[in-house]
Amino acid sequence: MESKKFLLQEREIPQAWYNIIPDMASKPLPLIHPATKQPLTAEDLYPIFSKAASQQELNTTDRWIEIPGEVREMYRIWRPTPLVRATGLEKLLDTPAHIYFKNESVSPVGSHKLNSAIAQAYYCKQEGVTNITTETGAGQWGAALSLAAKHFGLELAVYMVKISFNQKPYRRSIMQTYGAEVISSPSMSTKAGRKIITNQPNYQGSLGTAISEAVELAMSTPNCKYVLGSVLNHVALHQTVIGLEAEKQMEMAGEYPDVVVACFGGGSNFSGLAFPFLRHKLNGDHAATRFVAAEPASCPKLTRGIFQYDFGDEAGYTPLIPMFTLGHNFQPANIHAGGLRYHGGGAIISQLKHDNLIEAVDIQQLDSFKAATIFARSEGIIPAPESSHAIAATINEALKCKVAGESKTILFNLSGHGLIDMTAYDRYFANDLANHEVTAQEIAQSTKDLEKIL
Ligand SMILES: *Cc1c(COP(=O)(O)O)cnc(C)c1O
Repeated sequence: MESKKFLLQEREIPQAWYNIIPDMASKPLPLIHPATKQPLTAEDLYPIFSKAASQQELNTTDRWIEIPGEVREMYRIWRPTPLVRATGLEKLLDTPAHIYFKNESVSPVGSHKLNSAIAQAYYCKQEGVTNITTETGAGQWGAALSLAAKHFGLELAVYMVKISFNQKPYRRSIMQTYGAEVISSPSMSTKAGRKIITNQPNYQGSLGTAISEAVELAMSTPNCKYVLGSVLNHVALHQTVIGLEAEKQMEMAGEYPDVVVACFGGGSNFSGLAFPFLRHKLNGDHAATRFVAAEPASCPKLTRGIFQYDFGDEAGYTPLIPMFTLGHNFQPANIHAGGLRYHGGGAIISQLKHDNLIEAVDIQQLDSFKAATIFARSEGIIPAPESSHAIAATINEALKCKVAGESKTILFNLSGHGLIDMTAYDRYFANDLANHEVTAQEIAQSTKDLEKIL
């Protein structure tokens, strides 16, 4: 393991986040108010989100948005993160490709999620909010927000998808260590939860259901806001620190990526790494660079979903979002990459996909664990099951280079480490994991009732 690191100084932590919308010739479609069917205003979002997040969500004009001093100060705990040339992996694959990864697993909670958690908690605190709620799948987002809430003195209630609540007890302990309250979802504490438990007593939960519960609690509790960990434009915005740093680090390495890869749940880490590079393509430079989102074959919204307005949650409390979706009632298989079990992609991503500016591939669960093992043995880091999808897609690209005898530069995002996911690895080594194929009928069924707005 002789991989080479490219490190930035603390003062090189970006001063501003990058908003891609001003650079998009074909803009994302507006979010729509479910009752009036009119494009949403920031005021419509104020009952749910902080004002700052609501305004960032609808900002289509400011390319750069300043990162508040207190947020940058918190970023200094672990940022800038390293960029690594994965020479160990290159050797093992015997590929002429140059493989780089941005290591977001070095954050105190082990994933990229903290980049947005800190920003959102900061804005809530600034606006006098005392309580916040959220959902979490595998527990990465909940863990990040628990740390951020504690730092800014906010009380946090986290609805954790039931399957992960039981499968990943240590993420629950992490949240509790930081002082958050963790509730298994679906729960009996909300209308949305009670309804689904009544209909399906053994339902193992989904991100869509957990979002409904958290939004409901925020709407029915005074001085309480809801905070979302992915999908929305402002979350993608906060994550662009990843790509802005990586851009400088690739310059230090003297290369520019031909292929940029990240795994895809709701799109936050993909957007974070990709958008700063994509901005050059949108402005006519580096036109050949490809952007590849790696999603699980069991939850294939970008590769097999439909482009239509849909709710972000299962009960239908959120605005209608223009998205590639499998339908907000789609129930993904219980794969171990809990953070990728979400039915849709965000508005920006979906437009970019629609316009063929980005690509998507689907990865089978067993291939993701095989890739994870190859990576751990050649680079020394045990990746999160989510990140392993990006690694599998990267390995596929690198092997294509080998067959073609072509040297390409591939950059992927290591969105998190897997040290708290070893139960999943245990099951992989015990041959106790399976691939899950979604049938065309299932997708037709879960998307058939979507309102046809497009
Ligand atoms: C949450 C999570 C993801 C998926 O979410 P995105 O919003 O698509 O980035 C990926 N990797 C890790 C480690 C996560 O925690």
